[in-house]
Amino acid sequence: MDERSVRSIRTLASPSGARVMGVMNKSTAPIADKAPVCSACGDSGWREVASGDDRRVTRCECFLGSRADRLLTVARIPARYEHCELEGYEPGSNPSLVSAKMTVCNFIQQYPLDRTGLMFRGSIGVGKTHLAVATIKELIRAKNVPCVFCEYRELLKRIQDSYNPAAETTELEVLRPVFETEVLVLDELGAVKPSQWVWDTVSFILNTRYNDNRTTIITTNLLDEASLGVLGRPSGMREDSLGDRIGERMRSRIHEMCRTVKMDGEDFRERFRSNAMRSRG
Ligand code: ADP
Repeated sequence: MDERSVRSIRTLASPSGARVMGVMNKSTAPIADKAPVCSACGDSGWREVASGDDRRVTRCECFLGSRADRLLTVARIPARYEHCELEGYEPGSNPSLVSAKMTVCNFIQQYPLDRTGLMFRGSIGVGKTHLAVATIKELIRAKNVPCVFCEYRELLKRIQDSYNPAAETTELEVLRPVFETEVLVLDELGAVKPSQWVWDTVSFILNTRYNDNRTTIITTNLLDEASLGVLGRPSGMREDSLGDRIGERMRSRIHEMCRTVKMDGEDFRERFRSNAMRSRG
């Protein structure tokens, strides 16, 4: 990230336009990196593979394994979603959920040949976040792809908080992983009332990732419809759409960056509860 980007981040992170000096000097803590003791490679991370006279080296399993463990830590998957795995996702006989799971399997298989992201869209509890988390876990384990999970509302709050000199974080610490990770999950995009600052911040994040050709996976409960009103003026005729919440330009940018995965169905927790009640008699 160059000085110009940092300056724009500062401006963005300051809704009031005030300047805060000195916060950029704090450094991010390095991730502890201790190689495991391995008899196959002597902890070098490389082991020899010999076939006849042909001798080559390849990455040792211990290196790949430990890298995946580190990547899982760095991905910051919240504890409440730690259980989310692809095998654990039960689409039942719902065609849209069956298709969503299949889309995820194809996405994982094709990545990184195809870097187009995914936008999971549907009502609450259909398993959008479950599939988004399962996708990055699989990318990490199968392909060692660096991924980061971010809850949209919390990310915006952290960017704002980072501008407070009393806070322990800096703009760089907050935004670096969002810009630099290979695959980013933005969970519940649009779950914050719009303002010019929100629009500018979302545009900055999405445009940076778009320009750098990085993959973004989005979940949203909002209707994928154009904005009816102008910023700050309620559309009045229906609930806010994605266009209302993040601006029309960013809604159309997302269509360039992601394939839409439409998920229809009832809240899984309700489905689970009513099945349990039924079996109890
Ligand atoms: P959404 O993001 O669509 O609001 P979540 O992914 O947060 O929904 O799902 C809510 C809870 O229900 C999570 O614990 C998730 O693991 C579980 N869940 C949702 N759908 C399924 C499903 N089809 N199979 C297994 N678990 C599911």
